[in-house]
Amino acid sequence: MAQRDAFTSKTENLNKYMKLDQKGKIMAEYVWIDAVGETRSKSRTLEEKDWKPEDLPTWNFDGSSTDQAPGHDSDIYLRPVAVFPDPFRGSPNIIVLAECWNADGTPNKYNYRHECAKVMEAYAEHEPWFGLEQEYTLLDLDNRPFGWPSGGFPAPQGPYYCGVGAGKVVQRDIVEAHYKACLYAGVGISGTNAEVMPAQWEFQVGPVEGIHMGDHLWIARFFLARIAEDFGAKVSWHPKPIPGDWNGAGLHSNFSTKEMRQEGGMAHIEAALKKLEPCHLECIKEYGEDNELRLTGRHETGAIDKFTYGVANRGTSIRIPRETAAKGYGYFEDRRPASNADPYRITRVLMTSIFGKL
Ligand code: ADP
Ligand code: MN
Ligand code: MN
Ligand code: MN
Ligand code: MN
Repeated sequence: MAQRDAFTSKTENLNKYMKLDQKGKIMAEYVWIDAVGETRSKSRTLEEKDWKPEDLPTWNFDGSSTDQAPGHDSDIYLRPVAVFPDPFRGSPNIIVLAECWNADGTPNKYNYRHECAKVMEAYAEHEPWFGLEQEYTLLDLDNRPFGWPSGGFPAPQGPYYCGVGAGKVVQRDIVEAHYKACLYAGVGISGTNAEVMPAQWEFQVGPVEGIHMGDHLWIARFFLARIAEDFGAKVSWHPKPIPGDWNGAGLHSNFSTKEMRQEGGMAHIEAALKKLEPCHLECIKEYGEDNELRLTGRHETGAIDKFTYGVANRGTSIRIPRETAAKGYGYFEDRRPASNADPYRITRVLMTSIFGKL
């Protein structure tokens, strides 16, 4: 079949079908979060219209296949909570973010959004803004970071952070495609950069208000995994993908309230840090698995057993940006969350630590 390969590439073949008219129907990709903090998704056909989350049909999946339910009672319900334009199939097709609910009407064990949404609603008057910096590592199908020599290591860290050029960064195509996909879908992506460890990258989402922060970050994660699939790459969300003298991966969480963003805001930031200090261990519990491998007090982290803060200091739990200190108002950066943390758990515990539990 070498002759056919010469005339039509796989991409051209696919595009021929993707351009076909859908006859008034759309494809809706329902996305949910599974038991291990990865996204899963499946598709269904709907009529073409301007779908709002509350109008979209509830759906279900086999929770016994995702460790989210026992086999004898396996139906998990998918309740739509947010809709985005689909960057893969193009509009009018849609991406539907859904919460997982058990058949008895209780939220599924891994549905962290439900409680988070309640907290965000209760404290909405403070207009909480979040900006999350998602670090991740791109692996080949043998779980080796791209560009790392087989059986060896790259040259020590230094040239890779915000690096430009062959030998310093890899797989920029994935990063670019992801940025575009987020913009197309209206996900609040605010930037991207190559990270300190080779094959590690970061994208930022924010500032985004309240519950929408977690929604946007989860959809951005789904997009990245889906795009990396197209390019034959795996995304690792692990906070210490390579042990040793290599930077780990975090999910720095920048935070401000309406009060902190105004003249005199520094007093509100300091009051919030005083509230966060005694909640340190409670926060750490919400900040991701295997984070103790990363929060060593080295590689631009604070130690896991101590709550510390400082202006422009990257070796602390919390950093107050230089600009915020200079102006006297702005935001702070919680550097503790790991790259694999659930944004609903982070944003919720920040709010309950500062403003109290419901
Ligand atoms: P860093 O210098 O730590 O690498 P980044 O530029 O990667 O910082 O990320 C900063 C994040 O802070 C961005 O996501 C941005 O949207 C967010 N941010 C900026 N201002 C605010 C604010 N007032 N409240 C919350 N987040 C904010
Ligand atoms: Mn089936
Ligand atoms: Mn950053
Ligand atoms: Mn970073
Ligand atoms: Mn940061």
